[in-house]
Amino acid sequence: MNKPEPPVTGNFIRNIIDEDLSVNKNDGRVATRFPPEPNGYLHIGHAKSICLNFGIAAQYGGSCNLRFDDTNPAKESEEYVNAIKDDVSWLGFEWHELHHASDYFEQLYNYACDLIKKGKAYVDSSTAEEVREMRGSLTEPGVESPYRNRSIEENLALFEKMRNGDFADGEHILRAKIDMASGNINMRDPTLYRIRKVEHVRTGNSWSIYPMYDYTHCVSDAMENITHSLCTLEFEDHRPLYDWVLDELQTPAHPQQIEFARLSLEYTMLSKRRLIQLVEENHVEGWDDPRMPTITGIRRRGYTPASIRDFCERIGITKNDSWIEMAVLETCIRDDLNENSHRRMAVLDPIKVTITDLPEDHHEELSFANHPQNEALGRRPIAFSNKLLIDRDDFSEDPPPKYQRLVPGGEVRLRGSYVIKCHDVIKDSSGNVVELRCTHDAATLGKKPEGRKVKGVIHWVSETHGVQGEVRVYDHLFNTPNPAGADSIESVINPESCIIKQNCYFEADLQNAKPEERFQFERLGYFVADRRDHTKERPVFNRTVTLRDTWTR
Ligand code: ATP
Ligand code: MG
Repeated sequence: MNKPEPPVTGNFIRNIIDEDLSVNKNDGRVATRFPPEPNGYLHIGHAKSICLNFGIAAQYGGSCNLRFDDTNPAKESEEYVNAIKDDVSWLGFEWHELHHASDYFEQLYNYACDLIKKGKAYVDSSTAEEVREMRGSLTEPGVESPYRNRSIEENLALFEKMRNGDFADGEHILRAKIDMASGNINMRDPTLYRIRKVEHVRTGNSWSIYPMYDYTHCVSDAMENITHSLCTLEFEDHRPLYDWVLDELQTPAHPQQIEFARLSLEYTMLSKRRLIQLVEENHVEGWDDPRMPTITGIRRRGYTPASIRDFCERIGITKNDSWIEMAVLETCIRDDLNENSHRRMAVLDPIKVTITDLPEDHHEELSFANHPQNEALGRRPIAFSNKLLIDRDDFSEDPPPKYQRLVPGGEVRLRGSYVIKCHDVIKDSSGNVVELRCTHDAATLGKKPEGRKVKGVIHWVSETHGVQGEVRVYDHLFNTPNPAGADSIESVINPESCIIKQNCYFEADLQNAKPEERFQFERLGYFVADRRDHTKERPVFNRTVTLRDTWTR
């Protein structure tokens, strides 16, 4: 596995940490965590948070934990837990400790009892509707609940009964007692616990109550001795509550919450809720559909871990929400594959070319460099015969101006071999071109033709030696930069986001491609052997990205 380099550029979070270290805060320790909720697969937005948290830890010789925020049992599953672990590892990061918020359920319960004993939490028996009404609004203060001044003893007894399962869902909640008139609605006696008689993946049926995110998160951070708790901007208004809980409790540490802007990427949507919808409504084939912005989807599309880390570094970390163009992500994989991938030839939409001045059994072995600028990547043999295939796009009976490919009576160079001339165009009964009869100029192998210029160069595969298979030509899943803002998903799905070509021909060497091996198919783009479906018998390649940007407006 290619190890990530510690990030080199600065950002405002690194400045905060540098300052903390200069005054020896936290005894010079840096400890971060990545805290996903296992309620879906990770997406490229999560990669930003992963690269930041693990990158900071690596840069400062600190540690980064992976913590599953599993306090919402109805939506969480083991499948998601395993997928998240795979994704983080694939991106090239190793977590220091692996935790689950559910490991802290007992401790969280005891801390909640401490709050009750301090008169800082109470059991509210109002209905959800009443609680909502009493909360007030941005312009009006809230109203105190009639249950707010229950005695400590009554609260402790009720809370214990809640835990024991003596009440139904929704009958009571435990709330912090802070300030119903606070300008920050999160501070208006927020809920700490609710009753949920749902089985939990890890704790089974031992709990009838589950702690809320805001309460769980800060305590979990403190239990793990996290120093810098990095989260996205929407939690800025929750920071006073984060600090209130830790100030009221005698936790072993008081981490500092710092917020940064979440990633928004054009032509896709980054929210697990939306991505679940795409999967459940069958707009895509699954979480790892190569058009999905999930890490597993992007991986299957052919992106490398290094290209994703590079992307996260290029977009940087700021306090301002902004949209990133898809072209930025695509440039990262293009740069990587341009430098590192082997070149191969493939024909996606074949048309036969017969070289009439060569015998039927002609076989000639040519040698091709795997990379034009890097001889160290070696060479491979390619067979040339009298039966070839070229892409349909590379021939035109009625060429537009400046067309430099093959035309009736015209010449073109076959990449790495000879100049050929088309003298006969054979059509079927419906008028489709099915074969081009050509002659070759034997003096043009690796040499310019005498006395004339031939500008065009096209790719080809020997039909006799090549291997047949499938190519999936992927494009953006949506045809609008902000699909989440559309009225319906159907209206913004790009109907050409996946075009399957079943009758492709690959040069023989591609039979040896392993799943997830990446190539540049000359003149066509970058492709990866599909990690699910590719076999030696039937190669299947996914288009990762075109050779050049075709989308930037
Ligand atoms: P979603 O809305 O997709 O479910 P989430 O924020 O609810 O996202 P979590 O599993 O809670 O998902 O996220 C784990 C971590 O990843 C959090 O710290 C969160 O801030 C961060 N994160 C999630 N989405 C993004 C994003 N688009 N850009 C940067 N960080 C993100
Ligand atoms: Mg969430």
